[in-house]
Amino acid sequence: MKRLGIMGGTFNPPHLGHLEAARHAHEELGLERVLFIPTNVPAHKPLPQGSASAVQRCDMVRLMLENEPWAELSTMEIERGGVSYTVDTLRALEHAAEERFLIVGTDMLLTLEKWRKYREICRLAVFAVVARKEDDRAALETHAARLRELCDADIRLIHCPALPLSSTELRETGALEGKVPPAVARYIYANRLYE
Ligand code: ATP
Ligand code: MG
Repeated sequence: MKRLGIMGGTFNPPHLGHLEAARHAHEELGLERVLFIPTNVPAHKPLPQGSASAVQRCDMVRLMLENEPWAELSTMEIERGGVSYTVDTLRALEHAAEERFLIVGTDMLLTLEKWRKYREICRLAVFAVVARKEDDRAALETHAARLRELCDADIRLIHCPALPLSSTELRETGALEGKVPPAVARYIYANRLYE
């Protein structure tokens, strides 16, 4: 069966931490393609003041992926509208004859039990987990073991160097060089985002 990667996020803005996490999952797990799916309204945290719009977040993801044939933007959560729940996205992708791999960073795996219908999520997808910092790995291993017990989750830890970047840091510092692809940096400057 073909393998589909799913990378959800607010992408406010998208950065190389997202891209490299997805790239390593793609390579290590033999994913055929990876969908980047920007959230409409995030379930767990409000978008901060001065955030990019949904259209702008999609534009930036499209720019980030323009030279990555294995990755593509999906606007399905934006089109669905309302609060974006991963379980709904996985249900919508269930008909596809593909095995689903949900790519997440440390913070997301560690808070999985707060997600809506997380047990169903564990049945609908395999987790591909990427450490956001090198010293996250021990906590990831411990929590993965717990989730395997709790809901029979299939969790694969991706072995790639951590890239400790966050959109929050980029919004706050405006230091984009080497942290987002050049086309994304140009878009942020041209549209005066996060000023
Ligand atoms: P914010 O600071 O606004 O929360 P973020 O950098 O955490 O932004 P999100 O859009 O919230 O980015 O995250 C989307 C997904 O990407 C989540 O699963 C998150 O854990 C993962 N992720 C974000 N940054 C990294 C990174 N540097 N390395 C690995 N995974 C990451
Ligand atoms: Mg985040």
